[in-house]
Amino acid sequence: MHTLSTKATEAQEAARDTIRRHINARHAHEVIFTSGTTASINLAANSLGQLLLKNGDEVLISGMEHHANIVPWQMVCERYGAKLKVIPVTDEGELEPRRRDDATEYFTERTKVFAITHVSNTLGTINPIKELIAQARKQGIITVVDGAQAIAHLNVDVQDLGCDLYAFSGHKAYGPTGTGVLYGREELLERMPPWQGGGEMIDVVTFEKTTYAKLPFKFEAGTPHIAGIIGLGEAIRWMEDYDKAAMAAHEHKLLEHATKELLTIDGLRIIGTAKEKVGVIGFVIGGVHHYDLGTLLDQQGIAVRTGHHCTQPLMERFGVSGTTRASFACFNTVAEVDALVAGVKKGVKMLR
Ligand SMILES: *Cc1c(COP(=O)(O)O)cnc(C)c1O
Repeated sequence: MHTLSTKATEAQEAARDTIRRHINARHAHEVIFTSGTTASINLAANSLGQLLLKNGDEVLISGMEHHANIVPWQMVCERYGAKLKVIPVTDEGELEPRRRDDATEYFTERTKVFAITHVSNTLGTINPIKELIAQARKQGIITVVDGAQAIAHLNVDVQDLGCDLYAFSGHKAYGPTGTGVLYGREELLERMPPWQGGGEMIDVVTFEKTTYAKLPFKFEAGTPHIAGIIGLGEAIRWMEDYDKAAMAAHEHKLLEHATKELLTIDGLRIIGTAKEKVGVIGFVIGGVHHYDLGTLLDQQGIAVRTGHHCTQPLMERFGVSGTTRASFACFNTVAEVDALVAGVKKGVKMLR
């Protein structure tokens, strides 16, 4: 009954509604707060595993998944005797079925869950998930989308996509660290068992039996990251001040410029050349180790990420130990891309 606590709760629930509106969910209680995409997918995998998976069932993922969309499924598959199947990836970094927007050849009667990334964090590839989801739904397969790389760069409309579950991180959408969301379709969330138990997620507790709280609280055990959630709501509202299509167009311009300029560097190979990409550009350079290049770029004030980007199977697919990856946000400029290219050239000269 305390004024401040009521205010905090109201602000948290206002953030939930902001996010509902932003992803066009039907109800605010379809938005579950987590600590990030990893926690969202672990919730999805553990709960869906308990609800659906039997010995011999299959979970389908793709070869371009982040470890966060591989390992939780592997863990539940092992627990229930299910099999993890993987859609391969082409040399360009697209899904490899006969057609990149047709996954039906990978579905069997035993496929229960199809978990797929909307956008690859390593390759930048935008997957045609709307088509893939429609195919899965036709066969009664539950769809889980890793939207960590999409939320800040594309228009995400969960009703239009038709997905069952959609996960993302606040800290990849200009929000505070340690915040995230799992969107779920109400009908499915109602059927899914809670994953974590504790305070806030209960209705009545006795030593004999506990009944659970309504959505979304059934899935939000313990004290939430209230300050972070309010911050995430503000970050989303800030994004909404801009036109997402215009943001995407600007980032695409930076990507095209960077691609053209980086390819003038002798021995540079871009990993991820899909037709549809967000502003993510990962590359390797013959005779130059990505860690060394990353260090030299850092010394010039240029922030890139180096290494396997939490996608070791994908690195293996492309036969590299890691890449140097630049990624563009809406506030980056052409001049910054030029500084990146000049920095890489300087680094290569020093390292070769
Ligand atoms: C970052 C990322 C994750 C994991 O997100 P966390 O915020 O670390 O939980 C999962 N998938 C993709 C595509 C990512 O980029």
